[in-house]
Amino acid sequence: MIKNVLDLLPEELIQQLLDIGEKEYRAKQILNWVYNKYTIDFNEMTSLSEALRTKLQSILDITIPTIITKSNSTDGTTKYLLSLQDGSNIEMVIIPNGKKNTLCISSQVGCARKCEFCATAKLGLKRNLETHEITSQVFLAIKELGGKKLTNVVFMGMGEPLDNFENVVKAIRILQNDICFNFSPRRITVSTSGVIPQITKLAETGLKLKLAVSLNSAIQSKREILMPISKIFPLPELKKALIDFRKKTPYRITFEYVMIKDFNLGKEDVKALLKYLGDISCKLNVIKWNKVDDLPYETPTTGEIDRFISAISVLSSAVTYRRSRGADIDAACGQLAARNTQRRSDHEEF
Ligand code: SAH
Repeated sequence: MIKNVLDLLPEELIQQLLDIGEKEYRAKQILNWVYNKYTIDFNEMTSLSEALRTKLQSILDITIPTIITKSNSTDGTTKYLLSLQDGSNIEMVIIPNGKKNTLCISSQVGCARKCEFCATAKLGLKRNLETHEITSQVFLAIKELGGKKLTNVVFMGMGEPLDNFENVVKAIRILQNDICFNFSPRRITVSTSGVIPQITKLAETGLKLKLAVSLNSAIQSKREILMPISKIFPLPELKKALIDFRKKTPYRITFEYVMIKDFNLGKEDVKALLKYLGDISCKLNVIKWNKVDDLPYETPTTGEIDRFISAISVLSSAVTYRRSRGADIDAACGQLAARNTQRRSDHEEF
């Protein structure tokens, strides 16, 4: 079977080469072409003989998604609609911020978790991404950025990363490997809707990374409406799993809270949130709900946002109001639905 190089850790590539009677250093040469020169065409790997290049192509390939459309937001964010080999579409977003360039990647085609307020949920789950379909988004983004450095990768695009556990973990190992992408652990964030057994399993892998959890309400009955996963994995158990996870990592957990008008910004919501987070060392990112067509929710006003943020500012954890980026091109959180259209421009800044 032909293997994609972007699916392999260096030791696995070495094994592939040894299996066909080639020397270990050949693997290092290939990795150098791929990860230092961003070459994906074996014919351009001129340090390898023509005969070897032909032989390699019988066991290896390096395919990356093709860009169908690229939409630029007025705030510098770029959304990419990508096509995979089987014709499935996914999206990734590059978000520049000062010296930082963050890439938001997808982990699944669609998503199974049915969050009420999210555009991706409406697609249902089509399939998991292969490891190389995850790493190749990063590869593509680095190429697209040209001389600018890709500093951070967040698994906040389409899909629930922990529902594609093995491939996501393998992709992160490749992203962190110093011969491959060489990202430091604190530059990789996995965001989850709260799949408790997989949070525990992730802690057990010993893999270092930042974990973000989409909370959205600290009231069990409300969270169940927004996020049906909460019926299976309720808030108290989630908190316990996160406290255990925190013990095994150097990084604080980030909670994400999407502010929805007349739904989760009231006094009882604040009270529950302060209680839930009060005794965890964590960060809290609040973000306003971005409009998704046909969903019965609304974006809060600036006044409502200000009131909510000031009410939760008593939290000892760092609270940040993450200004949503790319809303005018439907690239903001929860707006990724792999549509091949460019639409309205309703960009707002706070
Ligand atoms: N499934 C994972 C990864 C996706 S991250 C998770 O749930 O964490 C996508 C983030 O965008 C989540 O924090 C989600 O709560 C948020 N989100 C979804 N729809 C949104 C919308 N319409 N506006 C703003 N944020 C949204």
